[in-house]
Amino acid sequence: MTAGTTVRHFPMRIGGHDVDTGEVLEIRDPQNDELVATAASGGASAIDAAVDAGRAAFDDGSWSRATREHRASVLRAIADRLGERLDEMVELEIMANGATVRQATGFHVGYCAPHLEYFAGLAERYEFETPMPRATFPVLGQSTLRKEPIGVVGAIAPWNFPLLLSLWKFAPALAVGNSVVLKPDEKTPLSALEFARIAEECGLPPGVFNVVPGPGPDAGARLASHPGVGKIGFTGSTDVGREIMRLASGTVKSVTLELGGKSPALVLDDADLDVAVDGVLYGCMLYSGQVCESMTRLLLPDSLHDEFVERMVARASTIRLGDTRDWETDMGPVVSRKQKDRILELIASGKDEGATAVLGGGEARVEGHENGHWIQPTIFTGVRNDMRIAREEIFGPVLSVIRYGSEAEGIALANDTQYGLASSVWSADNSRALDVAEKIQAGSVWINDAHQINCEVPFGGYKQSGVGRELGPRALDPYVEEKNVHLDLSGTREARPYDVLLSHADD
Ligand code: NAD
Repeated sequence: MTAGTTVRHFPMRIGGHDVDTGEVLEIRDPQNDELVATAASGGASAIDAAVDAGRAAFDDGSWSRATREHRASVLRAIADRLGERLDEMVELEIMANGATVRQATGFHVGYCAPHLEYFAGLAERYEFETPMPRATFPVLGQSTLRKEPIGVVGAIAPWNFPLLLSLWKFAPALAVGNSVVLKPDEKTPLSALEFARIAEECGLPPGVFNVVPGPGPDAGARLASHPGVGKIGFTGSTDVGREIMRLASGTVKSVTLELGGKSPALVLDDADLDVAVDGVLYGCMLYSGQVCESMTRLLLPDSLHDEFVERMVARASTIRLGDTRDWETDMGPVVSRKQKDRILELIASGKDEGATAVLGGGEARVEGHENGHWIQPTIFTGVRNDMRIAREEIFGPVLSVIRYGSEAEGIALANDTQYGLASSVWSADNSRALDVAEKIQAGSVWINDAHQINCEVPFGGYKQSGVGRELGPRALDPYVEEKNVHLDLSGTREARPYDVLLSHADD
C-alpha cells in the first residue's frame, strides 16, 4: 500500500446489512506484509445474530420454499456475475492469501463459477420427493421420501482457497434451500464478504447467506456448538476438525470435515520421467505447497532414484519466486509469518533427523518484497517415513523423498500415514497403475497426474483426513434431512395391527 492510499474496510454481512463490531481484522499481503484491508471481526454474539437472521430468512420461506428452478436461476446469475468480476475477485484473494495471479485465476477463483453452476444443475435434478415401494405389512400404506433443507447450516473455511472451499459448503446448502452462516478464516475473509454482496444483488434474499469473519476459537467455536445450527461443513486442520466434532456433538449436529494430508506420489519403476518429474513438482509445489492434497512425500524406487532426483532438482531450480501479480511469477510467498516460522522449524527438524536438503532448505529473499514470507522450494533426500518431515503436514514448498525397494514396499510406505486425502501413482503401464491404485488408502488416486479436482467427482479423505465427501453427484445430500411421510391406505380400523396392544374388546 503506497503512502496516502486508503485501506478499504469490509464490514461483515448479517441479514442483508453491513455490520461492524468495533473489532477489526488486519488483512496483510503475504508478499510484503503490508496492510491492504481491514474487515469487521465478530465473536459469539455476531454469530448468534447471524444464526437468528438465517433462521428468520429460512422461516419466511422466500428461499427455503422457493422452487428449485428459481434457486438454480439465482445461483446461475451469481456464477455469471462472478465471471464478470473475475479480476476483482482474484485481487481480493491474492492480496490476502498470496496466491499468484496465474493460479488464482485458474483455480482459486476460476473454479468458483463452474462449481456453482454444477450445484445449481444438481438442485434442478434433485429428487426432493421419491415415492417408496408400497407397503403391505403390517398394513397397506404408501411412503414418500422427502428431502428437506436442514435450516441454518454453518460453514467454517480455511485461508488457502478462501472462496472455493467456502463455496463447496454454502453452495450445496443454499441449492437445497438452507440458510447459511459462513465463518471465513481470519486472514482471508474478503472474497467471501464480497461474494455475499454479489449474491444479494443477484436475488438471494437478505439473511439467507451471512458472513461473519472472526477468531476460530471464539466465532468458529460458537458456530460449531450453536443449538440453532443443524449442520457444520468444515475445512481445515485435523486438530481443529477434532475440536469441531467435539463441539458439534453437544447438539448432535452432523459434520462434514475436509482435513489435512500427507499425500504420497508413488513413482513406479516404469514411469515416464518427462511426465513424472514435472508432475511430481506440480503436485508438491503448486501454491507454495499450501494445498491440502499436495503430494509432499515422493516415493522413488531404488532403480530410478538418482536420475529422478537429479532431473527434478534441475527443474525445481527454474521455479521463479516473485510478485504475485506478475504473470511471469511461478511461486508466491507462504501465507503468514507464523506459517513461515513453522515451515522453517520443520525444515530444521529434517536436517536434525539426518535428511539432506538437495535444494533450498531455508528462507528466500525476493527483491522489492523483503518483508514477505518467502521459503525456497526445498527438496529433501534420505528421508525415512518416521521423520517429522514425512509424517507432519508442512504446508510449505517442501518435498520429502523416500526410497523403496519392491512395489509392495512402496505401497506400504504410501499407506503408512494417519492421513488419506489424496495420492498419485506414476507408471507407463495403466493396468499396473490401476492395480496399485486399488491398494492405496486415499480418497483420490491420480494416475500420472496431480491436483485433478473435478466438481463432478466426490472429494474427501480416508482416515484422519476427514469425514464425508464434498463435490460429486451426491454433494447436496449432506445438506438435507430425509423425511418419510407414510400414508395409510388400509382404510378400516380392522385392517390395522392395533390389536397387538389393544387385544381386549370394549366391554
Ligand atoms: P485451521 O484448522 O487452523 O483453521 C480452519 C478454520 O477453522 C479457520 O476459519 C479458523 O478460524 C477455524 N478455527 C480455528 N480454531 C477453531 C476452533 N477452536 N473452533 C472453530 N473453528 C476454529 O486450518 P488452516 O490453517 O486455516 O488451514 C490449513 C489446514 O487446512 C491444513 O491442515 C490443510 O490440510 C487443511 N485443508 C484441508 C482441505 C481439504 O479439503 N481437506 C483443504 C484446504 C485446507
